[in-house]
Amino acid sequence: MGEMGTVKQRAAPTQDVEALLGRLRSIVGPQAVLTDPEALEPHLTEWRGLYRGAATALVEPGTTAEAANVVAACAAARVAMVPQGGNTGLVGGAIAQARAGHPEIILGARRLNRIRDVDAANYTMTVEAGCVLADLQAAAEEANRLFPLSLGAEGTCQIGGNISTNAGGINVLRYGSARDLVLGLEVVLPDGRVYDALRALRKDNTGYDLKQLFIGAEGTLGFVTAAVCKLYPRPGSVATAMLAVADPAAAIELHSRARDELGGALAAFELIGRLPLQLVLEHVPGTREPLDGAHDWYVLLELAPAGADAQDQLEHFLARRHAAGEIGDAMLAHSGAQRDALWRLRHSISEAEKHGGAGIKHDVSVPVSRVAEFIDAASAAALAEVPGARVVAFGHLGDGNIHFNLQQPPGMDRAAFLDRWEAVSRVVHTTAHEFSGSFSAEHGVGAMKRDELARLRGGVEYELMRTLKQTLDPHGLMNPGKLFPAAD
Ligand SMILES: Cc1cc2nc3c(=O)[nH]c(=O)nc-3n(C[C@H](O)[C@H](O)[C@H](O)COP(=O)(O)OP(=O)(O)OC[C@H]3O[C@@H](n4cnc5c(N)ncnc54)[C@H](O)[C@@H]3O)c2cc1C
Repeated sequence: MGEMGTVKQRAAPTQDVEALLGRLRSIVGPQAVLTDPEALEPHLTEWRGLYRGAATALVEPGTTAEAANVVAACAAARVAMVPQGGNTGLVGGAIAQARAGHPEIILGARRLNRIRDVDAANYTMTVEAGCVLADLQAAAEEANRLFPLSLGAEGTCQIGGNISTNAGGINVLRYGSARDLVLGLEVVLPDGRVYDALRALRKDNTGYDLKQLFIGAEGTLGFVTAAVCKLYPRPGSVATAMLAVADPAAAIELHSRARDELGGALAAFELIGRLPLQLVLEHVPGTREPLDGAHDWYVLLELAPAGADAQDQLEHFLARRHAAGEIGDAMLAHSGAQRDALWRLRHSISEAEKHGGAGIKHDVSVPVSRVAEFIDAASAAALAEVPGARVVAFGHLGDGNIHFNLQQPPGMDRAAFLDRWEAVSRVVHTTAHEFSGSFSAEHGVGAMKRDELARLRGGVEYELMRTLKQTLDPHGLMNPGKLFPAAD
């Protein structure tokens, strides 16, 4: 291996790409190799429109064996591959960047969509990578089980993409992120070999836990084809409330009390600033103020115990906190419709932000105990970069994960504001780092934050990551330019 800075990530193709496409058609069938520009189009842009790519073809294997043969053929031809799931990622990770002399094939997981097994007694299901997340939630429900991974993009994103981004969502506080929900994995390695560890075991102490390398690897170490996911008992009841708190420090205090008094039944604890709520109320039809009057900060809290007493438990908890003067006004949902209305306020924030002007967005995390200090420090640092901008802060407080976004100042030119993205992100990420935090708690590194990976995860940690990449993918063929810079 060369020095860390000069690791070769990709070799030039050694074989005619047309010959390779012919070989791929013979493996998966001609209908599963798409080269038509119109058919490729939706696979070349990303949800926020920040990335526009180019690809030689989209290839969709229908079985693990086909996927292995496809990858082996691309590897033999030294042609790069970009795994793609539902393409709901937000950091350009699934977007191919083919250019002259550097063809790239998109490996689509859509046809790998079988649920191979639901083992209710083992609380597991074995599923293929292209299964849509919402379909897996429904399959678990049919077996009277819960698959707790849940996020805004669940109707489109795929479990292979969720695993590859270590997706979080609204239930991390109680059930963990994708990393905590996977027991076994099947992955086609960059040379076409299949790493088969589809074991449905909760205890297995046999050497390195290799599957964890591929979880959150953003498609840079292999193509995930199947996984064994954990299932849970369905909660007996659910109760949801929105309440006002004085500031983020009060929210942190309330979070500790909720964990102490409500225990494992606490399922969600979200912090929402007034500005994000205001944007929702202004721009999302059918929404209304959840409480009397306006407040600076809100908490959205959900309880999901095994028994039927969620409503009682939450009501008593809120009464105690109110009596102690720790919370202001509160609203406990008394019906499914009221609960949906509260969650809609939270889930509509991203959409509302779009209507409120340009935004510079971050998905950072810090220890829960430091969220309040972080918001203060990051606000000062970001506003020094763009005076007059408005801070839109909200997120999964229970996970220490804050969406710390900056909204275009009134009157400032949109393009001029967006030109400041890199400078603003740098100070926000540096602030998170200074608070022992992470510059990406949700969306990952992809193409967008690869310089930040080198800057903020430098030293031994970065060296080990590159050593791993070099060992598993010596020719740099699997998702080049993601996490690390691509070689020229
Ligand atoms: C409205 C909205 C809400 C969101 N909310 C959340 C949230 O709450 N929490 C959160 O964590 N994320 C969230 N996201 C981001 C996104 O949905 C997640 O990152 C999701 O896990 C991506 O899944 P996907 O199938 O769309 O993957 P893609 O976007 O297709 O790919 C993402 C990355 O995974 C790799 N990949 C995909 N499939 C495979 C595979 N089979 N094998 C190997 N690599 C693969 C790709 O190469 C890429 O690097 C949200 C996105 C949107 C649009």
